[in-house]
Amino acid sequence: MPEFHTKKITLPSGKTVELFYLAAQGSEQAAEAAPADDPKARLRQIEICPECDSDRVHPVDWHEVDEHHWRLDVRCPDCRWMGSDVFAQDEVERYDDLLNAGTDALIEELERITRENMADHLERFLRALEDDGIMPIDF
Ligand SMILES: [Zn+2]
Repeated sequence: MPEFHTKKITLPSGKTVELFYLAAQGSEQAAEAAPADDPKARLRQIEICPECDSDRVHPVDWHEVDEHHWRLDVRCPDCRWMGSDVFAQDEVERYDDLLNAGTDALIEELERITRENMADHLERFLRALEDDGIMPIDF
């Protein structure tokens, strides 16, 4: 049986979005699991807060240390923990992909809400037009 998971996200507007997703499981998951000696399996998860286990830690500042290392100043929005550490290029790239995915999801949601708001505005505009509430002098 496939297993459904839910995740609630609260947007800055206060609107709560509930995501449903299907968890990979059984043989499929085993096949995709990284072998223990895969370097990717050892990558630190920069987005995980060491204080409260939140997965929303975001970068505040970053500096290139050398060709393969970055110093990141990070902050947890949930408990206000702040930290700074040097991460390998692989770790930063993984984190960057994750941040981009999160940004894409937020932008999509924002666009959807914007469309809803515009539809609402348009509806009110049309109603006002029908009621002769809008005159050429309004423009
Ligand atoms: Zn935290």
